[in-house]
Amino acid sequence: MESADLIVIGSGQGGVPLAAEWAQQGRRVVLFERGALGGTCVNTGCTPSKAFLASAHAAGRARKAERLGLGVRAEVTVDFAAVMERVRGYPEASSRGVEGRLKKAGVRLVRAEARFVGERRVEGGGVRVQAPVVLIDTGTSPLEPEIPGLAGTPYLTSDNFWELRERPERVLVLGGGYVGLELGQGLARLGCAVHVLDRNDRVLAREEPEVSEVLQEALEADGVKLHLRSKVRAVRYGRQRFTLELGGERLEGDALLVATGRRPNTEALRLEAAGVETDERGFVKTDDQFRTSAEGVYAIGDVAGQPQFTHVSWEDHRRLKAILAGEDRRRDDRALGYAVFTDPQVGRVGLTLEQARRKGHDARAVDLPLEKVARAWETGETLGFYRMVVDRQTERILGATLVGPEAAELVHVFLAHMEAGSTWRRLEQSVHIHPTLAEGLPSLARKLAG
Ligand SMILES: Cc1cc2nc3c(=O)[nH]c(=O)nc-3n(C[C@H](O)[C@H](O)[C@H](O)COP(=O)(O)OP(=O)(O)OC[C@H]3O[C@@H](n4cnc5c(N)ncnc54)[C@H](O)[C@@H]3O)c2cc1C
Repeated sequence: MESADLIVIGSGQGGVPLAAEWAQQGRRVVLFERGALGGTCVNTGCTPSKAFLASAHAAGRARKAERLGLGVRAEVTVDFAAVMERVRGYPEASSRGVEGRLKKAGVRLVRAEARFVGERRVEGGGVRVQAPVVLIDTGTSPLEPEIPGLAGTPYLTSDNFWELRERPERVLVLGGGYVGLELGQGLARLGCAVHVLDRNDRVLAREEPEVSEVLQEALEADGVKLHLRSKVRAVRYGRQRFTLELGGERLEGDALLVATGRRPNTEALRLEAAGVETDERGFVKTDDQFRTSAEGVYAIGDVAGQPQFTHVSWEDHRRLKAILAGEDRRRDDRALGYAVFTDPQVGRVGLTLEQARRKGHDARAVDLPLEKVARAWETGETLGFYRMVVDRQTERILGATLVGPEAAELVHVFLAHMEAGSTWRRLEQSVHIHPTLAEGLPSLARKLAG
């Protein structure tokens, strides 16, 4: 059995930098990766999806240019094969970059599935290693819902969607979460007839209802057909066509994209051999310093049952590095933001009003519709709103929800204020540049000033 200072399982967003940084400090690090280097984000997640949306939203904007008095007779043509070829170039480049980084740092890379064979002992690809510190960063995979007839059909998930070479005419999207909506709207903008099905009564059901309302309006304007409160009773596949049985109604499509959630990659790890406990859904249980139930074994990122975002996993590695160096850092003392890259975008940070009240804050919220923001009005992009949640007593900003163009960028104004512990009055006093979308944020705060 080999010995190392650190074993990392999974080359995800947090595992790679931690492995590289420890190795650069002269420590012996072994990293196991069973799939493509770099994990979900660069191979099948953020990077390809945002590259795909760059084409799709450009097509959407070009079509909308008509209302600005342009291109009235122009038609947007889509070379779907070229769009997807471009998209596939990004993961290849990213994976090469990750490999180069690990090699340069001196990490011993084992391209195999790893499993525990004892306490802090890991095996994979014929390599057996022990180390005082083991990091689990194995992420998640698409969940296959239990629908009769689905298993074994050539349905798409965010894992294999990127292999599409021809544009499917009709696409059925199961799941109205952010993956389903981003890809569904993208496909519609690239010329597919898209149906999005969700069992909830609104899309993005985890968000505030007003967010769903705006998104539904935008999707319908793009020609997406929404089927809410819908239960798929069975899936049939034949003659290269999918049929969804909805109890009375039937929907047909040339492709079926399943985007109904993610499951943790813990099955193959044989966690029981190391004494690492999981929750009822299979996510690794951790304390607020990323410790699992087994001494010396830590878990970060998606697999640790946290909000599933790249920046969470990446930030985890920085905090864990500090904790391993003896600093008193915690996982949760951070303002957490995220975004949905539909058009309009959704930018979220911190608590919603409901969450704030549940946490015991004397909270209130203010809203500003986008049509009140000069920049949005001038560009004709007025679908959306800005919302801020504050604590009445301390006047601190507790959270924000922005729906509109570039909301993913704009929400960082709130993120910065929240990290700085600042109040809505500070925001209200800030002089933002005219005419920008960001100018709407002090205006929003001004509503609190009366
Ligand atoms: C379509 C889509 C779009 C997304 N868009 C965004 C976005 O815009 N912004 C954002 O922040 N997040 C986005 N995400 C989420 C983001 O990709 C994940 O949150 C992030 O990649 C999680 O990183 P991680 O480090 O936890 O694990 P991962 O990146 O999932 O890496 C885990 C790695 O572990 C490997 N592995 C698993 N088990 C084993 C084993 N037993 N042995 C060896 N290796 C193993 C896997 O092969 C994988 O490479 C998106 C996800 C999807 C699917």
